[in-house]
Amino acid sequence: MSGWIAIAGLGPGNDDLVTPQVAAAIAQATDIVGYIPYVARIAPREGLALHATDNRVELDRAAHALQMAAEGRRVVVVSSGDPGVFAMASALFEALEAGPKAWRAIEINVLPGITAMLAASARVGAPLGHDFCAINLSDNLKPWEVIEKRLKLAAEADFAMAFYNPRSKSRPEGFAHVLDVLRAACGPDRPIIFARAVSTPEEDIRVVSLADATPDMADMRTLVIVGSSLTRFIDTPRGQIVYTPRWSR
Ligand code: SAH
Repeated sequence: MSGWIAIAGLGPGNDDLVTPQVAAAIAQATDIVGYIPYVARIAPREGLALHATDNRVELDRAAHALQMAAEGRRVVVVSSGDPGVFAMASALFEALEAGPKAWRAIEINVLPGITAMLAASARVGAPLGHDFCAINLSDNLKPWEVIEKRLKLAAEADFAMAFYNPRSKSRPEGFAHVLDVLRAACGPDRPIIFARAVSTPEEDIRVVSLADATPDMADMRTLVIVGSSLTRFIDTPRGQIVYTPRWSR
């Protein structure tokens, strides 16, 4: 029997936000590979092996998945959100590129998922309704200077911005500096959205101005969105809507 790999996105947390395509791949799998909390979202069943690994071993995990598929197994590599957004799809292709040529014959499909920035923006309205960019604030795999340059240029270009991995215990000062850079570039009144654990029971969404934003409003389960200069509010009896119009000046 010939094996395959599906690199699948599980969405932001709620099972309603897993696509039917991803659910079908999981139903056919012999093996699930991924970071511990994501593998924990897969219901165990007879004949399905769950391979949960710690974070930061993405390349080992990818090579393991490729090896199992080469041996004929049906492997689903799981990420949260979308697998192509700061997640396992690129790690798997890095391992494929560096690995044995025989691996290139393996059928590999990337199955998209709802990424955190889209789930977060939907909860408040449409802050990403015009041009925007997404920046990973983790400096694990890139120098801080690159992050700072991209922040400044994105602010200058007046993009709305979505930030992944805003803050970790190992580098709490990094996000404070990000807020300083943003206040200098965008001014104190610009809206900033802290969307934590979107679509889970722990969901918590706060909308404040850059002037009122503090580093402790973000953790590693938070997606941060900063509006463009045109991002605005509508007050309704059901709460505040935040959106960015489709036009630009
Ligand atoms: N592939 C994932 C992103 C992985 S990076 C995706 O497409 O969503 C991990 C970061 O994603 C977290 O630090 C956080 O910034 C964001 N994130 C993931 N799930 C989230 C959720 N349910 N709510 C808010 N942010 C989330």
